Amino acid sequence: MSSQDQPHLRNWINGEFVEPVSSSSTESSSGAQTQYLPVTSPFDGKVIGHVPLSTAADVEKAVAAAKAAFPAWSARTIKDRAGILIRFHSLLTKHAEELADMVVLEHGKNKAEALASVLKGQETVEYALSLPQVAQSKMLEVSRGITCYDTRVPIGVVASVVPFNFPIMVPMWTLPIAIAMGNTMVLKPSEKVPFTMSKVVGLLKEAGVPNGVVNLVYGTADPVNALIDHPDVKAVTFVGTSHIAEMVAQRCHKLNKRVLALGGAKNHMISAPDCNIEMTSTDVVNSFSGCSGQRCMAATVLLTIGKQQDLIDRIVAKAEALSPGSSPGEVGPVIDQASVDKITRYINEAEASGAKILVDGRPWAKRNKEGFWVGPTVILHTNKNDAALHDEIFGPVLSILAVENAEEAIAIENANPYGNAACIYTSSGATADHFIKRFSAGMCGVNIGVAVPREPFSFGGWNKSRFGNHCDITGDGGVEFFSTRRKVTTKWVPQENASWMS
Ligand code: NAD
Repeated sequence: MSSQDQPHLRNWINGEFVEPVSSSSTESSSGAQTQYLPVTSPFDGKVIGHVPLSTAADVEKAVAAAKAAFPAWSARTIKDRAGILIRFHSLLTKHAEELADMVVLEHGKNKAEALASVLKGQETVEYALSLPQVAQSKMLEVSRGITCYDTRVPIGVVASVVPFNFPIMVPMWTLPIAIAMGNTMVLKPSEKVPFTMSKVVGLLKEAGVPNGVVNLVYGTADPVNALIDHPDVKAVTFVGTSHIAEMVAQRCHKLNKRVLALGGAKNHMISAPDCNIEMTSTDVVNSFSGCSGQRCMAATVLLTIGKQQDLIDRIVAKAEALSPGSSPGEVGPVIDQASVDKITRYINEAEASGAKILVDGRPWAKRNKEGFWVGPTVILHTNKNDAALHDEIFGPVLSILAVENAEEAIAIENANPYGNAACIYTSSGATADHFIKRFSAGMCGVNIGVAVPREPFSFGGWNKSRFGNHCDITGDGGVEFFSTRRKVTTKWVPQENASWMS
């Protein structure tokens, strides 16, 4: 079968799959045909489909559908909307295996990681189900006979732009809360992993979500810019690399548009001399190699206070024992050849500057003749300026650097421009407290290398890991972002002796 025989995806607008505008009658008015990008499976590099590069004309259609759906959807009670999401939750459970298989195929996670990402996405749906109880207004008699209350009002059409590394989980960070709060949505999936969400929108429809409430537009930068610039799009969420997150936030700021743009990361773990070596080594290896290191919460720098040879030996032994594959416990490929090249370049450069490659994942590329492979890699640095210690690599690479004391470790963590996550490994509560209070990161861990806050807590970093109006995503941050407050002051009984100030 040739790559041309593989499916050509269509956008999902107003409850059905539609051809991108420019190819709907073979040619657009400008005479241009829709461009498609091949989608490859990272396991073998084979083309598994084609994703359209949608244009502003496609965005126009999707936003029009979302705008038309908004009055009726927002007029329903929050309980009614949550009721539909209960059915969606059941459908996610019913199709979890199938969705996980799609995540494995298009992204390259192992099956256990893929299934966990579906379940984690479901957790946000569960939080959205609680909103009829949680998203209450407050009311107070502020003066004799005068009452103030506020209500949370949906914003309108919202846009959500998501990255490749969690094909279902990251879209679920925004979608359930946004629509439960009464908004309608246009989602722009990553062009690298477009299939999973094309299945999920069908489940939303089956659950009873009305046509137009959730729409999908595929593509890269063009539809994102068109969404930001569209006057009917009232808020934008973005998750991806920092430089694009910053651009998205600035473009929205210029239009006075609400924006939450989560960026990249370089997360530090610090091992105190009193850390539990067995627990710490397992956790560090899981953190840097899980999902092939393609997690914004992956810890990528380990600062050992002192040399801690026993800990390093255990990390090396556990990393060396990992093998490539898609079964639980195995390490999958990275997303594409560009990613292999980038990861390899950082390892080569560190080696050239004098670092010791304690575990070398580079041979995995040769061992697996097809696909995009780099194995878990552990680098022991001596040069503090190595780029691998500072840049986001987004692969299964752990950089280890020995530091003299706690102050030096904190100074290094604080100096990195990101601020997604940081973790301290210790057996002492006082030591943990000392570090947690000094980390410059939004999500901190104690003996936990992937310190993802679970619902009802919100997710979000600091510094160059988050741009925008300073809400977090998910949890109560999501409720705050996807609603605005209407404040109402009422008086029913005429007051005696009232002045104009009363
Ligand atoms: P990316 O920035 O390349 O792409 C993200 C999205 O932006 C995609 O939908 C893409 O099509 C779109 N896009 C690409 N170029 C664009 C442009 N010029 N203008 C507007 N939109 C554009 O990111 P990625 O490689 O898909 O994902 C990996 C990155 O995402 C890593 O940096 C990772 O740390 C980050 N990430 C962050 C979080 C977080 O919560 N902070 C979570 C997951 C991933």
